[in-house]
Amino acid sequence: MGPSIDTKSAIHDLPTPDPDSPLKIRRPYKFSTLCATVENPHQKDQYGSSSVPIYQTATFKGVAGEYDYSRSGNPTRSHLEHHIAKISSAAHAFAVSSGMAALDVILRLLKPGDEVIAGDDLYGGTNRLLGYIRDHVGVKVHHVDTTDPASILPFINPDKTAMVLLESPTNPLLKIADLALISKEVKERAPAAVVVVDNTMMSPYLQRPLEHGADIVYDSATKYLSGHHDLMAGMITCNRDDLAKQLAFVINSVGNALTPIDCFLLLRGVKTLAVRMDRQQTTASLVATYLHSLGFKVHYPGLPDHPGREIHQRIADGNGAVLSFETGNKELSEKIVGGARLWGISVSFGCVNSLISMPCVMSHASIDPATRAARGLPEDLIRLCVGIEDPSDLLDDLEHALIDAGAIALSMQQNAYVRVQPDEKALNKAVEQLAIGGSKSKEELEWFVSAPGKVILFGEHAVVHGVTAIAASVDLRCYGLTTPRYDNKLSVHFHDIDNFYHEWDIDKLPWSSISSLAANEEHPEELDQHLIDVLQQGPLNEIGDKPQARAAALAFLYMYAKLAGSHRPSFNFSARSTLPVGAGLGSSASFSTCAASTLLLLYRRISIPSVPAPNDPSTGHMNVSHEGRRAITPAIAEEVNRWAFVAEKILHGNPSGVDNSVSVFGGALAYTRAGFGKKSGMEQIQGFKSLRFLLTNSKIPRDTKKLVAGVGQMKLEQPEVVSKLLESIQSISDEARRALADPEMDRDHLLLALSALINENHGHLVSLGVSHPSLETIRTKTGSQPYGLSTKLTGAGGGGCAVTLVPDSFKDDLLRDLLAELQNNKFDPYLTSVGGSGLGILSPYEQHRNKNPGLYGSQTLGHVTPPEDGVFGESLRPYFEIKPVSELSDWAYELGKWLYV
Ligand code: PLP
Repeated sequence: MGPSIDTKSAIHDLPTPDPDSPLKIRRPYKFSTLCATVENPHQKDQYGSSSVPIYQTATFKGVAGEYDYSRSGNPTRSHLEHHIAKISSAAHAFAVSSGMAALDVILRLLKPGDEVIAGDDLYGGTNRLLGYIRDHVGVKVHHVDTTDPASILPFINPDKTAMVLLESPTNPLLKIADLALISKEVKERAPAAVVVVDNTMMSPYLQRPLEHGADIVYDSATKYLSGHHDLMAGMITCNRDDLAKQLAFVINSVGNALTPIDCFLLLRGVKTLAVRMDRQQTTASLVATYLHSLGFKVHYPGLPDHPGREIHQRIADGNGAVLSFETGNKELSEKIVGGARLWGISVSFGCVNSLISMPCVMSHASIDPATRAARGLPEDLIRLCVGIEDPSDLLDDLEHALIDAGAIALSMQQNAYVRVQPDEKALNKAVEQLAIGGSKSKEELEWFVSAPGKVILFGEHAVVHGVTAIAASVDLRCYGLTTPRYDNKLSVHFHDIDNFYHEWDIDKLPWSSISSLAANEEHPEELDQHLIDVLQQGPLNEIGDKPQARAAALAFLYMYAKLAGSHRPSFNFSARSTLPVGAGLGSSASFSTCAASTLLLLYRRISIPSVPAPNDPSTGHMNVSHEGRRAITPAIAEEVNRWAFVAEKILHGNPSGVDNSVSVFGGALAYTRAGFGKKSGMEQIQGFKSLRFLLTNSKIPRDTKKLVAGVGQMKLEQPEVVSKLLESIQSISDEARRALADPEMDRDHLLLALSALINENHGHLVSLGVSHPSLETIRTKTGSQPYGLSTKLTGAGGGGCAVTLVPDSFKDDLLRDLLAELQNNKFDPYLTSVGGSGLGILSPYEQHRNKNPGLYGSQTLGHVTPPEDGVFGESLRPYFEIKPVSELSDWAYELGKWLYV
């Protein structure tokens, strides 16, 4: 049995530039150094080229030279072969045109009547070639389970066994064979038998079977040795001169040696073998651990329960970067493989890019299904070949593929994704139906959503001129509720637009002029102006002269019609907001987000992941503001954001997209507008810490367009003054962005820095002429003693809102006094936190049905007819319509579990 070798400290008896001397002992190079150093002392380049040249020639002049004809030998190939021999602990190496060509050369050592013992979980192509020589050459092949050396013994025949063919770990089940023990046992019983190892899965970096008694080793160099999937090659190595002679004879006779250009490419690839492999196997280990922790059956030698792990550790120096796992269901596996984006669907492995595949339908499809079953190759097996991409991206992509396929789902109890057992899925569906009210379909459900408004913290106005603005979500939200109707009508109720209500007969909408999108078709960049005109002239005409309500209804009807196709659900959509409308706090974007998300849910363009049934619903409650975060996948959030942007375009013509992005994703983002030599960009500020702010609505109406134009005019008249101001605002935004995203920054320090930046930014806005006496009053009130707070205008200025940073340490009684003082001045102050969650959807799987019946008492119920017994029962709508705005968010919170982006 060979010793375990740690490649990183392995001592290879190979030449180094430093000569050995009694004074200075030669210290041989480690593997990665050997890999990167292509040097052949017997083949010095005439010009000292640092990269081996490509001798792209078939023939060589002269008669007595070392080379005459490239089939027999070529200098580029000699370099490669010398290099591979060096890193494989081999005396001889041969480069041929593919891994299968390598095996073909090796199998030509056999003659009719010989017997081969081979593994039962071999690469499909190997099986195919073995089948060929069995049928055409008359060689008998025994497939045995090589994980158990004892199972080989009965097949060893000292007279007939000519070859034992092994792979370890095998592909794709990662079965381990004790190469050292098997070589020893075979040699003892059949000394003439040649032990051959396919080492493709490991490469010489991680395993050198010649050191463990193998006679011949081959690699599909198409894989790790080259590393880039840009060439096909095979390498054969051995120490025995007699075997080398026969192999060289075959290669020369057959003419399948590797071409000079491919030798060059392979040589280049090999130089980075060790670094690539280190990265790849570290990530593979993370991926294996992740899948294992979810409860999938994972095949990877690095896992503690992997069969044969100790053997592998003894003969190899690492676990490699291929792993496989079982999902329990072939269709589910197909969905997962189809859902991955970063993991490319492809056969093969060893490349710097990560790959995902289903061996039974791809690489091993050449083995018939019965044989696959007999060899225990699961039809649902997914193979992952890990590349060098960022590990977190790979894990993220895999997680999304698993979620989208329904293989994992969010568990409220564990606040984590857990595996959905395939046979549990049917059960979950049933539970889901029970939990959401008997036989109700998704369309019959009430969908209750909410989305935050936004506040611009820094950079308003300057953003129009290419300066970065920092926007963050506020925890004042718009709420949207769809309730099914059973009268083929569609209705909207906009509480905050003068309690506007309107209903339409669905059949009377101008369907003949409406071109809806196909099921998976995305909305194009341009709005459908024809549809807008048709809606304006038809269904919206009934509304009359109510521009705000008309605009909101247009956005809603437009999305309803675009998404409809033949499916035209009948329901009511009610929207209410705890945000002041029209105060520059993104109320329209939060409305757009609510309308878009409910419509997408109703049309089943998005669906929220079902969750495994809780054992005890009474324990299922969760902390809404944190634990539901990330329960809505980024893919869903992006789809909602695309449609919210469509609604925003209808409402505002040419919006930047900042408001809807903040509303959907929450948190904070930095936005830079296109032009001015910059590309438009929106970047989430990671790690943004939620901050307390006071938003004070001056209630002074303002004309945003006029204010923006005013700054433009000033820029024309005093370009130097304005560009100085813009530069200063840019550095404020940069500073704020750095501070907000700095995880190390101490909270007090952050608050102090932000206060200073707020004052500074406000000063610049005053210089740009966009403040207003009412905003200055708010600033003076909040800034004076005993409060001493920093305030700036937010948004367009000229009225609207001011934002005041409220430090954590600010006393409650002081805050009460300040609020009262502002109210006495006829301002509307809102205490809010900034940077919280984006879009939220009330989980239909677990809602608490206690909505305080009786609370509505004798109040008017808008457009809902109270039932005779006075009890509304299941529907949320009656309660939603009448809750005082001050209780709306607490009431919504208590309804059940909210899932957030
Ligand atoms: N051996 C193993 C383990 C393989 O995975 C492959 C190819 O996938 C081969 C051999 C054949 O190599 P090639 O495709 O370079 O002919």
